[in-house]
Amino acid sequence: METVRHPLAWRKTDRGGLPPLAPQPQIGFNPRAMVEKWEQVRRELQRARGARRLVPWAFLSALLGWAFLAVAARNWRAGIPLLAGGLLFTLVIRVLAVPHCPSCGKNLWIRGERPGPPTAPVPTQAERDRRCPRCGAGLDA
Ligand SMILES: [Zn+2]
Repeated sequence: METVRHPLAWRKTDRGGLPPLAPQPQIGFNPRAMVEKWEQVRRELQRARGARRLVPWAFLSALLGWAFLAVAARNWRAGIPLLAGGLLFTLVIRVLAVPHCPSCGKNLWIRGERPGPPTAPVPTQAERDRRCPRCGAGLDA
């Protein structure tokens, strides 16, 4: 089977992340390609989990920065540029906190799903079914 390598596949180094697969006649599918594809999806999910955790902190620090400056300057308008920058930063992180399906590019998480932090991930539907909840494409084949 012809497998299309993902552009980011070169990142998969030989650090021993994958168990060595015994050489076998490959009929129909390539187990290593399957593992690599799922590994990329898994990393995308972990990256999004990490960014997701930062969203409330970015928002809070924007508000706190604005509040401190407003109190120090005795003028609520003094901190507005800082607040605007902080909110923009929060928005950027919020955009990064979305895991994208390699097939359709849509969000792999369903609205209201709680994927948990990267250190204690809660399996989402995409991870349980190993397919995209939007387009149904398999994420490990
Ligand atoms: Zn999809």
